[in-house]
Amino acid sequence: MEQIRAIIEANRERFLAEFGELLGFPSEDGNAAGLTGAADWVSERLQRLGARVQRLSTGDGPPVIFGEVGAGPRSLLSYSHYDVQPADPLELWESPPYTPTVRDGKLYARGAVDDKGDTVARIHAVEVYRAAYGELPLRLKFFVEGEEEVGSPHLAPLAARYADLIRADGAIWEGGGFDDAERYTFYCGVKGIAYFELRAHGAAYDLHSGYAPMAPNPAWRLVHALATLKDAQDNITVDGLMAHVRPPTEAERAYIRRIPFDGAKMKANWGIPAFINDMSDEDALTRFLTAPTCTICGVRGGFIDEGEKTILPSSALVKLDFRLVPDLTPELVTRLLREHLDRRGFSDIEIKGFVGMVGARSDMMAPVVQTAIAAARTTYGHEPVVYPSHGGSGPMHTLVQGVGTPGGIITGVCYPGMRMHAPNENIRLDDYFRHIEFLVEFIKRFAV
Ligand SMILES: [Zn+2]
Repeated sequence: MEQIRAIIEANRERFLAEFGELLGFPSEDGNAAGLTGAADWVSERLQRLGARVQRLSTGDGPPVIFGEVGAGPRSLLSYSHYDVQPADPLELWESPPYTPTVRDGKLYARGAVDDKGDTVARIHAVEVYRAAYGELPLRLKFFVEGEEEVGSPHLAPLAARYADLIRADGAIWEGGGFDDAERYTFYCGVKGIAYFELRAHGAAYDLHSGYAPMAPNPAWRLVHALATLKDAQDNITVDGLMAHVRPPTEAERAYIRRIPFDGAKMKANWGIPAFINDMSDEDALTRFLTAPTCTICGVRGGFIDEGEKTILPSSALVKLDFRLVPDLTPELVTRLLREHLDRRGFSDIEIKGFVGMVGARSDMMAPVVQTAIAAARTTYGHEPVVYPSHGGSGPMHTLVQGVGTPGGIITGVCYPGMRMHAPNENIRLDDYFRHIEFLVEFIKRFAV
């Protein structure tokens, strides 16, 4: 540990300068020069690391920079991205977003935590590892994409075409970091998502509501259909859907019990008296991390302005999202939803599906998970907080489980004050350098 710290210390200024170089590119969607500059920088930097670099693409859009370093029986995929969220509103930045500036031990720039910090820390970790121990004892595959902030539209075709190249014995994803009590936290999966628009039609135009005894009302139609999707106890009642949901494993339950979770504080924040069904904190957290959802995101139809207007609407629309757990794919949910509605006589209700994502969850006993726990313990000096899954959705499955890689973890350089996607995005420099230590320890342990 001392030796690793000394190597990092000796390179500190150069590492910071290099990090600053990548942060200087305004690699926002639509800024071709910024995106090309960042892609070229990553490509050139990986080449200097000795990586065999290639540009992967399936047509238009910024390329994926793929580079492999090291040798050994095991391989590790590193997923990160060089594109960033737009920096606006610019007037709220205390220093220009693409002029990296250090204040109070924090480096301010767009992309500092999301996600150039992860990208450069992993490059620097390779250098530090080599200086301490010699050549990397595993094959580290850098996959640095340029379309994450616009939903990674080419990830699925890329994964299909380059599956053999991408496949590894484990993966490290972006995100993760310190929680508000300074505990190092990582996630072993993400939920998937399926998003739908359901539409019911009535008369060709809005009618006088006096015709309600004889003309069908699409708003009522939608209400009746929606009421069959979930019961009053919040159970999803779409035919066959819950049969595809694995209950949490004993190991997942054990890790969930160790997650510090203050339900009372959350309820106070949200201004709600209780969780659904007055469930306990442990049940709420378990459900949050491991259960699928069926959520009415919004409803539209007829007259909803101030005052009154007696009409019978001609159509009604609802937006629905389903957060998905592994095994419950968007395609499967689309089919189950259609069949469920048809079986109940709702064939007239139109379903429009949006591009979805498959969920991913690593086995808690997978080498990549257990290695990360051990490395975090050594580096940060405390037991890390390990979430079996994130409550949100992400495309991990496409590049990890989907190509046959057994597991991935979300680990990175986040902290609560980072202002990700907001003005004054920043990274704590101590976190950056400690994360390099963590990665070196992780590589050392994962290689054997
Ligand atoms: Zn990101």
